[in-house]
Amino acid sequence: MTVPASWMPNASMQRIVCHWSAGAHDASWLDRKHYHFIIEGDGNLVRGDRSVSDNAAPIRGAYAAHTRNCNTGSIGVSMACMAGAVERPFDAGRYPMTRPQWDAFVATVADLCQRYGIKVTPKTVLSHAEVQSNLGIAQRGKWDFTRLPPFPDLVGAKVCGDFMRASVQQILAGEGPKPKPVEEPVEADQGEPEAMELRGVVTAGWLNFRRSPMGDIIGGLPRGTAIAVIDRDEGWYQARSPGGYLGWVSGRYVDIV
Ligand SMILES: [Zn+2]
Repeated sequence: MTVPASWMPNASMQRIVCHWSAGAHDASWLDRKHYHFIIEGDGNLVRGDRSVSDNAAPIRGAYAAHTRNCNTGSIGVSMACMAGAVERPFDAGRYPMTRPQWDAFVATVADLCQRYGIKVTPKTVLSHAEVQSNLGIAQRGKWDFTRLPPFPDLVGAKVCGDFMRASVQQILAGEGPKPKPVEEPVEADQGEPEAMELRGVVTAGWLNFRRSPMGDIIGGLPRGTAIAVIDRDEGWYQARSPGGYLGWVSGRYVDIV
């Protein structure tokens, strides 16, 4: 087992949705807020703030919000990587997915399938990029993952998803590499409120500052502006400008520093 048994409480779960964080290689507080499990760049497994059982139907109170309109019964697993990545032409950015990370991710998904009795099918073990096509739930063009940097020949949501499922099946069949198990459960670092912010720098010449993700433009930030990232909705960051204004910016044009 890669995942400690105590991290997998009893719950009736239907599927596993697999993501990348569009962040850096370390699990940030945002990652812990949005996903049940995060695999860091070196393959280290981190538990999110919300328990798997928080997403069991019927959802009451706080839960891990990882997939738009598809969180009930869904376990969210994410690889911490791909900040600033661009789909076309493909650029993996400064924090590309790593091979140790992928191996630990696949092993984690295999453990979860076994623990929760989830069959490995395109509707039950899928990437975020497949949710719209496989489940018919719109996802605003999410592309985690249509590319897998450790496997550059694979392109497209279905190709990458099929490869992921085959890799999980291999582990469930007792084949394939097993990364080292987690020895000590990693406790979420509560930290000071001011530490619960990521800092970013604008990389676009002029970055639109919006009221909501894809919402009205309320201003602009020039290249090099330092911002505080205080929340994230997939590829969008809620940011505080140096002048103290709150708004949303595309994560594609922000380097997390
Ligand atoms: Zn995602």
